Amino acid sequence: MTKSKFKGQVSSLRANIGARRPKPAPGAPSPAAAPPIGSAAQEGPPPLGTPKSAMVIMAHPDDAEFVLSGTVAKWCAEGADVWYVLVTSGDKGTHDTEMTREKLAATREAEQRAACRVLGVKECIFLGYPDGFTIDDLELRGQVVRLLRLYRPEVVMTWDGFRGSFNHRDHRNVGVSVMDAVYPVVRDRLFYERDEADGLHSHQVNEVLLGGAADPDYTVDVTAHWETKIDAILCHTSQIGNRTREDFIKQRAEQVAKDGEKPIEEKFRRWSIRRPPRQEPKPEEVAAPEAATATPTS
Ligand SMILES: [Zn+2]
Repeated sequence: MTKSKFKGQVSSLRANIGARRPKPAPGAPSPAAAPPIGSAAQEGPPPLGTPKSAMVIMAHPDDAEFVLSGTVAKWCAEGADVWYVLVTSGDKGTHDTEMTREKLAATREAEQRAACRVLGVKECIFLGYPDGFTIDDLELRGQVVRLLRLYRPEVVMTWDGFRGSFNHRDHRNVGVSVMDAVYPVVRDRLFYERDEADGLHSHQVNEVLLGGAADPDYTVDVTAHWETKIDAILCHTSQIGNRTREDFIKQRAEQVAKDGEKPIEEKFRRWSIRRPPRQEPKPEEVAAPEAATATPTS
C-alpha cells in the first residue's frame, strides 16, 4: 500500500468515528467526562492475601531487608515460597581502604544468604552485575524474564523505578527492567523464544509491589514480624556500622513512647495487572438460605 493511500484510509476512518458521535444541541451543557481508565474513580483491587509464591528482585544485598523484609517474613511464616534475585552483589558499598571489590561482593553475598535463612526465603540468586553500573537493557530484562518463567511467582516485589524524586541508578534501572519484564514480555511466548525452546513457558504475574515508592498506595502490617526483620537487617554486618539489636529495640521503644503503640507497616505502590474475577454470588445461592430457614406456615 502506498503511503498516500494509507493516509487516505486513516482520514476516512477518522471521519467515520466523528460521524458516530452525536453532536450536542446548541446551548446544551456538555456531558460529564467519563473517568479515565486507571483513575481514582475506578474500584480498587481487593487486598492481597498471602500469595503462594513471590519473587523479590532488588539491586543490592540489604535492599530487601530494609524496605520489605517484614512482608517477606510474614509471607514465609504463612507458607509462601519466596525467592530472592539480587542483580548486583553490592561490590562498591564500603569506605574501607583495604577492601577489594571481589572480597566485598563475597562478604555481601554471604550476608544476604544469612538474611534469607533468617526470613525463611527458599533460594537466593545473584546475577553478578557490577554495583552502580546496571543498565536497563535487553540482557537484564531477558534474565529476569527467564527467572520468572522458571519459578513462576504469583507476586513480584521490586524497587519503584518510576518515582520522580532522587533515586539510586541501580534501583531505578532494576525497577524499570523488572516492570518491563512483567508486562508484557514474560506473558507473551514470542519474546525471548529461547526460553520456550528450553521448555520454559510464558507466565503471567498479576501483582507487583514496588518498594521505595514516593506515592505508596498499599500497606502491609508487619508488626508481628518486626523482630525477624531486625534480625535479617543485622545479618548485613558490613553495612550497618556498630548498630546492635538493642539499638533497634531502644529506637522502637522511644518511638512508641513519643507517638503511642502504632502498627509497624511497610508501604508499597501496588500494580495489579489483571484483577482476580469478582466472586459474585449466583441468584440461587442468595435465595437458598432464606428458603432453608423459612418457618412453615401450616
Ligand atoms: Zn541498594
